[in-house]
Amino acid sequence: MPIFEYKCTQCGFVNEVLVKSASSKGPACPECGEKKVVKQFSVFSAVIKEPPAAVSKCQSCPSAGGCPNFNG
Ligand SMILES: [Zn+2]
Repeated sequence: MPIFEYKCTQCGFVNEVLVKSASSKGPACPECGEKKVVKQFSVFSAVIKEPPAAVSKCQSCPSAGGCPNFNG
């Protein structure tokens, strides 16, 4: 589900809103009540920081076999 960010034109507060369908009009600013909020282009759902998948081979070598950088 996409999350849209609405930035308040008054105080600059960025309100993250989970929306089911894209709408141009955002909710009022929860901080100051300003209704003029600007939709920002936003991330799709939360950015989950995952560690990179276990490296099975050296990133710079096409094959793991015999790579001096690959341990294991
Ligand atoms: Zn505000």
